[in-house]
Amino acid sequence: MRRRSLTELASNPDLISGIYNYCDRWCERCPLTSRCLVYATEQVDHHNSQESHDVRNEAFWRRLTSVLVDTQEMINEWAKEAGIDLCHVPEEEPRSRKRRRQLVDNHPLTRAGKKYANAASDWFREFDQTIEISDLRATDADREQLEQFEDAREVIQWYQYQIAVKTMRALSCRTDGWEDEPELADFPKDSDGSAKVALIGIDRSIAAWRLVQLSLPDRIDSTVPLILQLERLRKRVENSFPEARDFVRPGFDEVIGAPN
Ligand code: SF4
Repeated sequence: MRRRSLTELASNPDLISGIYNYCDRWCERCPLTSRCLVYATEQVDHHNSQESHDVRNEAFWRRLTSVLVDTQEMINEWAKEAGIDLCHVPEEEPRSRKRRRQLVDNHPLTRAGKKYANAASDWFREFDQTIEISDLRATDADREQLEQFEDAREVIQWYQYQIAVKTMRALSCRTDGWEDEPELADFPKDSDGSAKVALIGIDRSIAAWRLVQLSLPDRIDSTVPLILQLERLRKRVENSFPEARDFVRPGFDEVIGAPN
């Protein structure tokens, strides 16, 4: 196949402008690769059908979303048992803009994101040291559970560090100050876009941990604290960026084909 130039690729009318600005960069699992210029430039010689790849991925994320909905009620019960008040969201102290810029790295949200990432790493390290995967391959049912576990692990590990990174980006955008310029008042905020990507990573990670529980029921107790950690982080990010959930990411949050 002849290698196409960037101009040729970019002239495709199906592409969605800027779709790659607020995605999670997980192209392998992206349901909109056929609308993305970044993907096109990286896959010019790839012969597989992008459309069937997108349909498969859309179904994957739909399933994970339904798991998240089911898990929400359980989270409240686990929090109650653990004596955690999920509604208590500590107020952040007002600080000067300059000071806040200096403190992004040590911001409570950044620290909470990193703490979760480390806790997830510890969990998988302990898991890998104590389980023989070959023992799980005995029956068809076991194989299905193993596949589910591997899918969940892939999701968790994809977002494990990205949650903190995107949260830090959201905090940085805000502390930079340019979002507060009066002439930008009507524009969506980059900080909200980044916070939304972090929140989606949190949602998907919670659902994926629930899939881990369903695959490995004897590990439920060790995974509940991770889910609660994520749930608290979710509430804190939502509290700090109340408009984030409403941010419309090009492509992902639009009804594609609808007039603007
Ligand atoms: S929009 Fe999808 S295909 Fe494009 S860079 Fe993001 S994840 Fe990859």
